[in-house]
Amino acid sequence: MTSPPAPDPAHDEAHGGGLGARLNWLRAAVLGANDGVVSTAGLVVGVAGATESRAALLTAGLSGLLAGSMSMAAGEYVSVSSQRDSEKAALAQEKRELRERPEAELDELTGLLAARGLSPDVAREAAEQLTARDALRAHARVELGIDPDALTNPWHAAGASFLAFTVGALLPLLAIVLPPASARLWVTVLSVLAALTFTGWWSARLGSAPTGPAILRNAAGGALAMAVTYGAGSLLGAAGV
Ligand SMILES: [Zn+2]
Repeated sequence: MTSPPAPDPAHDEAHGGGLGARLNWLRAAVLGANDGVVSTAGLVVGVAGATESRAALLTAGLSGLLAGSMSMAAGEYVSVSSQRDSEKAALAQEKRELRERPEAELDELTGLLAARGLSPDVAREAAEQLTARDALRAHARVELGIDPDALTNPWHAAGASFLAFTVGALLPLLAIVLPPASARLWVTVLSVLAALTFTGWWSARLGSAPTGPAILRNAAGGALAMAVTYGAGSLLGAAGV
């Protein structure tokens, strides 16, 4: 069994929209789904510890799903927007420098290419050709590690987070409300552990980490969350709160 190569940040920088970026998106989607599974499972199992009311379970689970997915989306929107702003500012500054001191910028590009392993002559030739074709793009890629045509759209990032969390959250929500009351707890616990086994395996594969320990840690985290909230819910239920 072969694993995909680990994305190395230096390599990603030079390939803004390439394999590294796609792997990062995929990893974010798996983590978002994992978050949706664990937090919603903890929530509905806790409520199930206190009450048998399907309406209460549905209300709590759906609220958890919506609150979590919107919180994830808002957080992602804010962080990607800030990143995009700083990338745009860096591109604007680069543009200014290229206009004001093109010779120094050509030397700079030559030096950066030489640092990547080209001989001085070849680096000079490459820098001249890249500058002639599209100087800003060359500096963006080699110097800043940005692809000016592939800046991440904050709305896309927010939508992807919303979707990933929602997909994850739907599993424990359906598992707790659909089965008869006597079976709902075990159906939920088992399907959550199965889902966490899958997301743990997948995220380990994406990061080229050993899958066994990743699955164990992931499933144990979810099991702990459900045990704690179930305990708290049972206490509150027994106390008649
Ligand atoms: Zn530059």
